[in-house]
Amino acid sequence: MNAQFLGDREMTCKTLSKSVRVEGIGLHTGEKSVVWLHPADTQTGILFCVRNSQGEATIPAFVPFVADTKRRVSLQKDGVTIQTVEHLLAASFGFGLTDLIVEVYGSEIPIGDGSAQVWIDAFKETGTVDLGEIAPFFVPQKVSVECGEAVMVVEPSDDFKAHYVFVTKHPLVGVQEASFDLQTDDFAKEIAPARTFGFIEEVQNLWKQGLARGGSLENAIVVFTDRYSAPLRFNNELARHKLLDLMGDLMLLGFRLKAKVQARSSGHTLHFKMCQNLWRQVEQEASARWLKHRATWM
Ligand SMILES: [Zn+2]
Repeated sequence: MNAQFLGDREMTCKTLSKSVRVEGIGLHTGEKSVVWLHPADTQTGILFCVRNSQGEATIPAFVPFVADTKRRVSLQKDGVTIQTVEHLLAASFGFGLTDLIVEVYGSEIPIGDGSAQVWIDAFKETGTVDLGEIAPFFVPQKVSVECGEAVMVVEPSDDFKAHYVFVTKHPLVGVQEASFDLQTDDFAKEIAPARTFGFIEEVQNLWKQGLARGGSLENAIVVFTDRYSAPLRFNNELARHKLLDLMGDLMLLGFRLKAKVQARSSGHTLHFKMCQNLWRQVEQEASARWLKHRATWM
């Protein structure tokens, strides 16, 4: 089957109705940054206008600009990097925002409480505007990618739905599963509040690598052998957060994916491998009406 651009229940492009400011520290750098979210015209996509010690750049949230996927997603253009974009992208996905200008003073997007809540709150505060055009979407051919025990499968569907299975040998965590269906589930309630987490031995390793410098019990769940550092918001909060990350990572395609997604033990690196694979499918689809515009980002 060829890739198609089909569908009946279309969403329209959406942006924020006014600008809103958010500030906070970055999970990995530990540095404070200030973010202004601004309304954008249709076909803008999600654009990061970054100013930091490396310089100044306008970086699209888009596959070709992904620089690093180790523990977080970093985008880079003209020697300027912005780290940890995934939770803001996930919130945009869940809120149906297609077009947004993210003005950032700093090198990392604030982590908030470790979930996507800070962004959902900002979006709710400003409200959204319907831009009237059908949001770009893509129905992919079936594709699967894997790396070690991690697997991700994407297949065509009438709209986005995802299922995540988080498999651990940890006695407390065990196997957690979470699902999300864009047509029936409420992202703001079901997925956005799920916080990032780390196993205690991983956290110590991250510190050695110079990551998670801003990590604290206020913005991440630490998993000890016999307990969590804080009461969980959902009994499967870890799997829900992995699903949140997955949705944020898929936003890097620059369009809405009409697909059934199944993932097991995957992280940013495998999600990005899938994005690259899907992007190759899109490039072959000459009728993509929005592709021409996205090409101007390059
Ligand atoms: Zn995350």
